[in-house]
Amino acid sequence: MDKKLAQELNKQINIEMQSAYLYFAMAVYVDGLSLDGCARWFRLQAQEELGHAQKIYQYLMDTGQPVKLLAIDEPKQNFKTLRQTFEVALGQEEELATRFNKLAEMSLDSKDNATYSFLKWFLDEQVEEISSCRTIVEKLKLIGDSGGGLFMLSKELGARASAD
Ligand code: MG
Repeated sequence: MDKKLAQELNKQINIEMQSAYLYFAMAVYVDGLSLDGCARWFRLQAQEELGHAQKIYQYLMDTGQPVKLLAIDEPKQNFKTLRQTFEVALGQEEELATRFNKLAEMSLDSKDNATYSFLKWFLDEQVEEISSCRTIVEKLKLIGDSGGGLFMLSKELGARASAD
């Protein structure tokens, strides 16, 4: 594997862990608002991100590349509203999509088809993640300050099936 690409994939393990940590912080915030369903949704997002980190770790191991774990920063924790929290989540998923686009381009540039094939799963995954975050932000715009609306949305999000 191209050395720079291997380094960027190693860095992606850290970015996924960082993303998981941000989702945990969001779960903590919405748990404080008594929106249990939303908190469950954020915890499942965090679990998914940990799964992504593991997937990349496994790929680097399978291809004989070095893995070096990097430090994880304190996540943002000063959320103001549920809508703002989901807007941050949407921004995060858009950034992740940009990252995977860059990684995919690097793999194509170095004619590394196996790594491109591996990254394709993430490209598809990011389309879904952005879509689900955007849908929730749109619903929150409709709901506005309605307590009943927030309660219903939380109930809907809490019904999300566990990944495993
Ligand atoms: Mg991810």
